[in-house]
This record gives sequence, C-alpha cells and structure tokens, in this order.
Amino acid sequence: MSLALDSLDHETIAGWLREDDPVVLQRLWSRADALRAAHVGDAVHLRGLIEISNHCIRHCLYCGIRACSVASLGSESSYPLTRYRLTFDEILASARTARDLGYGTVVMQSGEDPDLTCEFIADAIRAVKAETGLAVTLSLGERSDEELRAWKAAGADRFLLRFETSDPVLYRKIHPSLPGTLSDRVAQLRRMREMGYEIGSGVMVGIPGQTWDTLAGDIELFRELDIDMIGIGPFLPSPRTPLGGEAAVKLRAADGDQVPNSEVMTLKVVALTRLVCPEANLPSTTALATLDPATGRELGLVRGANIVMPNVTPSEYRVLYEIYPGKACVHETAEACQHCLERRIHSIGRVVGKGPGGRIRRAPLS
Ligand code: SAM
Repeated sequence: MSLALDSLDHETIAGWLREDDPVVLQRLWSRADALRAAHVGDAVHLRGLIEISNHCIRHCLYCGIRACSVASLGSESSYPLTRYRLTFDEILASARTARDLGYGTVVMQSGEDPDLTCEFIADAIRAVKAETGLAVTLSLGERSDEELRAWKAAGADRFLLRFETSDPVLYRKIHPSLPGTLSDRVAQLRRMREMGYEIGSGVMVGIPGQTWDTLAGDIELFRELDIDMIGIGPFLPSPRTPLGGEAAVKLRAADGDQVPNSEVMTLKVVALTRLVCPEANLPSTTALATLDPATGRELGLVRGANIVMPNVTPSEYRVLYEIYPGKACVHETAEACQHCLERRIHSIGRVVGKGPGGRIRRAPLS
C-alpha cells in the first residue's frame, strides 16, 4: 500500500485502517513520525485544560456528563454525578496556574451549559488574556454565532468542536439534536473558520456503529476542512450512558465491519491523520493515556502527535468531569502532572514547546 500523500484516497486509507501486520505498520509509524518532525518539529506544546462546568443539556449516547447521566450501581461510577460550575475567580486562578507552569495556552472546556452566558465567558476570556497573556481555546459545544463572534472579539483564539463522526446517520443516533434545532457541527466549524478562529475537531475511535469506511471518511473530512487541531481518542464506554450498556450492542456494525476501540486502532488513525494533515496540531489524548496509562501518551507522540493537554482544573472538581470512568491524571495535582509529562516528553527525545504553539502554515515540503 502506498504512503504517498497525494495517493491517500479513500480505499488506501481504509486499507491502512484494516492493516494488522506489525511489520507493515512500522512503515506507517515511521512516515507519520517523519512528517511530524518535518512539519511541526520536535516541540510538544502543553495546553492547560480547565474543565469549567460539567452541566450539559445534550443527551449524547456516549458521554458520561450528558444531561440525564445516571449512576450505575456496582461500578466505580455508582455515585450520582454532582454538577459543578467554576466561578470567575476559579477560572482565573486555574489560568494563572497554567501560566506559572509554563503552558502557552488554556483550554476552557465544558458540557453544553447555557448558564455559562455569553457575557460570563467573554469576561473570563478578557481577564485571562489580560492577566496571563496566554492563548485561549474554547470547547463549549454548539453555540450561537452571536456568542461565537462575541468571544472572538473578546480575544478567544481557537475553538474545539469534534464532529464525532462523518456519517450523518450514525451522528444523529449518537448525538441527538435538541428540540427545534438540527445539530450540524461541520457547519459550525466552517462558520468559526470564517470568524477567524483556529478550528479544532476530532472523533472517537471504535464508537459502536463506526465502520472502516466511516472512519476513512472521517480522516478525509479532516483534510477537506483543513482542520488546525485534531483530537483522536478511543471510545471508552461509560456505565452512566446508553453506549455503556445495551444500546451499544444494538448499534454495533455487522461483524467484520465494526471498528475496535483499541490502542493500535487509535494510533493508526493518529498516524494517518498526520499523513493527510501534515501541519495540524494533534494531541496525544487523555483517552489514549487512560487506555494505556504506562505508554499511551508516548506512543501517540511518536506516531504523529505533537500536543498534550495537562489538566489544571482545581482537584476537587476533576473527578466530577467524568466523561468516561478511570480518566487518566484525575487524582494528580497540576504540578505533578507537569513533571510527569515533561519526563515522558524527554524520555522520547522531544522538548517542551514554548509560546502559544498555534497552527503554522508553511510552504509545501517535498
Ligand atoms: N461539550 C463540548 C462538546 O461536546 O464539544 C466539549 C466537552 S465533550 C465532553 C468533549 C469530547 O469528549 C467529545 O467531543 C467526545 O469526543 C469526547 N467523549 C465524550 N464521551 C466519551 C467517551 N465515552 N469516550 C471517549 N471520548 C468521549
């Protein structure tokens, strides 16, 4: 199979996704790592993640903080989910922590929470920018154009919104629209690009109903939209959600078509994404580190990724942002997380990035 960038058509991508021979896969890993080095260099940029609210009005079938998240008895998620929303001062304090730890960006993430009002978020962006000078990334779900414009004007630099799957039928099943609206994340991504945001997106690997064709289509959509940041992690079933139970069985694709939610599968998607979007910023995700706490982060970084998002949310809230159980780094302090990540980055011969680490557009490399 070819790894030439211009010949990565749908069939070739799907073929690589199905490839299981470790010797053959070595070619994919080497090519992805070489392209990562050539286009985004050896620096690993750290983005301080602030989980500002776990309130959510959506009913996504996969997500543990969905509106109707239920406790599942007998599992580690057996307590009812306590909802929280950080105060203005807590957000600012978390941003200061990110700055003091040397991070170049803060990512303000939440469930889709209308009580995080336009004004509150705009004020928080202005305060974080004024006090820390850090780049600000938002990840607040589907929001109105009016809000998105106001936050851009307040100084937001980037917005992360995973389209979750390029298959519209599967999307409607796993991510129901709210009454009276039609959820269209791709359209929001296009509008945010026009507003001047750097745009981030991504998918989960191995979501029930995801086929090889769908996943190849996801990678092609990253290329078509020219996404600046692409988050790719394994689907991790949450016992609080329908896809942590019976619904997953019903939604599964036919035998032989269903993509597994394994580590190697996720790494193949990261590597192929580096091939089709060589300039993009690709995080080695927390979900990957959750699946393989020993080496998941490092494997992501040597197979195409160049970003890590250490958590700077105040410790007492972190455990409540439970999108899936057993999330990596939940019980560590921000300082411990930083030391651990720096050690991991140095252990693979890479360096910690300085500055905001935004998308850099270069002339094509041969
Ligand atoms: N509410 C915002 C949104 O929907 O874009 C941001 C928060 S949402 C929890 C962030 C991402 O977590 C989602 O886009 C989804 O891909 C991922 N996620 C949710 N549930 C997951 C699960 N069970 N396994 C892996 N990733 C999950």
